[in-house]
Amino acid sequence: MIERIASPKRTIEIVKKNDFAFQKKFGQNFLIDSHVLNKIIKSADITKEDVVIEIGPGIGSLTQELAENSKEVIAIEIDNKLIPILKDTLKDYDNITFINQDILKVDLVKLVKEKNRNKPIKVVANLPYYITTPIIMGLFENNIPLDSITVMVQKEVADRMRAKPGTKEYGALSLAVQYYSDPYIVANVPPNCFMPRPKIGSAVIKLTKYKKPSVDVCDNKLLFKVIRASFNQRRKTLINGLYNNLNKEYDKEQLKQALISTGLDLNVRGEALSLKEFADLTNELFKI
Ligand code: SAM
Repeated sequence: MIERIASPKRTIEIVKKNDFAFQKKFGQNFLIDSHVLNKIIKSADITKEDVVIEIGPGIGSLTQELAENSKEVIAIEIDNKLIPILKDTLKDYDNITFINQDILKVDLVKLVKEKNRNKPIKVVANLPYYITTPIIMGLFENNIPLDSITVMVQKEVADRMRAKPGTKEYGALSLAVQYYSDPYIVANVPPNCFMPRPKIGSAVIKLTKYKKPSVDVCDNKLLFKVIRASFNQRRKTLINGLYNNLNKEYDKEQLKQALISTGLDLNVRGEALSLKEFADLTNELFKI
């Protein structure tokens, strides 16, 4: 059996041998715990039929498990110093393609067309935390053929993604994620599972993409504008939040009528609305 990369001993060996310096700006906290890795692989439901995209392979601890369990792995890494290290540590595998690029600049639509003939791929990653939201929203909004996203993120961000109305974690991110997918927290992961240790707790979350968005809305751009406007001033009533943050596009009377038609209390706050209620309200505003 090929030696596992995900252990403190092997990680230190690889780092020392290559004189590798961790770069904080790239969010480099490498996984050194094989139990957590197994949980990620199991929950991502990887089979030998799957093409997997990994964002930020680091020195390859997760990449190794993905290569063993899938048909092919495409690993996208921004740090050029890691590419020769990955090619060396993973030289026993012939089903990994390394791309040395910023994930936010990769044309994933083209990549999936080329690599998987447009069939849905799975994304699995221990994400660089500084760009968690743009990565996830980019995957959803750019219509990339996608089955699921199973990722390590900050615990607090995982909680926000699956938060329900009326909680303090609930906000624009919860609604955007739940519009496109069903979120499920697979595991909470403490700092000692990484090298170097991050200051905050982490969690693995699986986002299973819906075949079509979870609510029907005439204009999804307007839906997200309404959501952002409602949460911009959390403590204000929904009417005031929308009035102040939608560039006065609707007057107060129009907003009042839209709330009444949606069946909402006129003093309600945005944080109390479900995604379905935001969709219904958007459909009412769309008619104006
Ligand atoms: N997958 C490895 C592991 O679990 O040990 C490393 C995870 S580490 C949290 C995040 C990785 O993402 C690092 O290797 C980092 O260099 C890489 N990264 C950071 N920003 C990136 C970007 N914009 N595009 C691609 N990779 C990036």
